[in-house]
Amino acid sequence: MTELTRMPEPYKMKVVEPIRLIPREDREKAIKEAGLNQFLLQAEDVFIDLLTDSGTGAMSQDQWAGMMIGDESYAGSRNFYNLQRSVEDVLGYKYFVPTHQGRGAENVLFPLIIKPGQYILGNYHFDTTKAHIELKGGRAINLIHQRAYDTASAHPFKGDIDLEKLEAFINEKGVEQIAFILMTVTCNSVGGQPVSMANLRSAYEMAQKYNLPIFLDAARFAENAYFIKQRESGYENKSIAEIVLETFSYSDGCTMSAKKDGLVNMGGMIGIRDNEELFKKVRQNVVPIEGFPTYGGLSGRDMEALARGLREVIEEDYLASRINQVQYLGERLKAAGIPIQEPVGGHAVFIDAKRFLPHIPQSEYPAQALCVELYLESGVRAVEVGTLLAGRDPETGEEIYPELDLLRLTIPRRVYTYNHMDWIVDGLKRIATRKDQIVGLKMVYEPEILRHFTARFAWVK
Ligand SMILES: *Cc1c(COP(=O)(O)O)cnc(C)c1O
Repeated sequence: MTELTRMPEPYKMKVVEPIRLIPREDREKAIKEAGLNQFLLQAEDVFIDLLTDSGTGAMSQDQWAGMMIGDESYAGSRNFYNLQRSVEDVLGYKYFVPTHQGRGAENVLFPLIIKPGQYILGNYHFDTTKAHIELKGGRAINLIHQRAYDTASAHPFKGDIDLEKLEAFINEKGVEQIAFILMTVTCNSVGGQPVSMANLRSAYEMAQKYNLPIFLDAARFAENAYFIKQRESGYENKSIAEIVLETFSYSDGCTMSAKKDGLVNMGGMIGIRDNEELFKKVRQNVVPIEGFPTYGGLSGRDMEALARGLREVIEEDYLASRINQVQYLGERLKAAGIPIQEPVGGHAVFIDAKRFLPHIPQSEYPAQALCVELYLESGVRAVEVGTLLAGRDPETGEEIYPELDLLRLTIPRRVYTYNHMDWIVDGLKRIATRKDQIVGLKMVYEPEILRHFTARFAWVK
């Protein structure tokens, strides 16, 4: 990609949702009422919303049309069978069970495959995934390659698991102590960094060697496939469909949040390649938790939208446009001298707040202070991934200071255009010219758990 290339979106607009930049004084009032916490803003007071890419995408005309043929039969809905065909064709799995979202899939599957005390080895477990592992008595171990922690190095596959550490861990603890291996593609928690096919294949071979099950946390499987096509030799001439099939061939099953690459606003699933015994258990367990196995927490129309979304997301011009837009935002910020995490991942750009605001100590939440400033400057809602999110050490009660204090600009799918990206960059450029004047924050209300959602702040004077 040449620097700063814009690629026209491969779609045109037919329905539009108005957004409005409310006046600066109203933004000041809104963010103060929200206790300087963007989670507590009313969405209508936000101009461009980059809180998350989860469930925030736009559906296509084909998906909306599909919703009109929703079959809301309690059992055996036609849309379930359409979804089953998509799962077979796109993922190559024989079995699946729908769930209301990704964590629903984790909640149903994990108790069936984890014995209390066992380890679950992954590249980097997503936070709800880790929580569900621990709720079932398991222990989540992150074995991502060390290079993932170096924001300035530009390795093409920073989501890879460290295979040597993986094998060493299995040998040290013994196979019986391991429940399964879980590969997260792309690796959300390190910034949407992709996992290479070589790494997926090797992890699968290792699982075979030790007779361990291996699953995918497949929320961003299509974005991962696009990176493989772009970056991994031997894949440049393969179709995304072929790469996706190969990806899933290196797994026994998956949990999936369909709110990302499913291109729907709500939904998820458990996929199983061919293990009929496990499928039977999953079908039993889903009933009391999510619902009957042919709907699993989704209405018929929602299953239809997902059936279509799974096919659309592997279209190459869609993926090229999606990834290019995120890269473009990253490139422009970099060109403006704003420090970002590199390389830019699939779904978000991360600003390194420690480098951008070196005068604000980590105890004063530099990335959160920048979130507040960005909202005030341009009505853009971003999210902190740093000290605020890390919380306190449960034993000592001390603040944890993570290595990175980041502001995440998460881009919803098919929602915003390059003009919106430019607006985001321009706001940050204006902030950069007077960044020394930004002051840190102190927390004036701190909830005990998941504090970032409802904490309230004041400026340090
Ligand atoms: C979003 C996500 C989940 C959880 O899915 P929900 O649909 O939000 O419940 C799990 N794993 C990964 C990698 C995710 O990105």
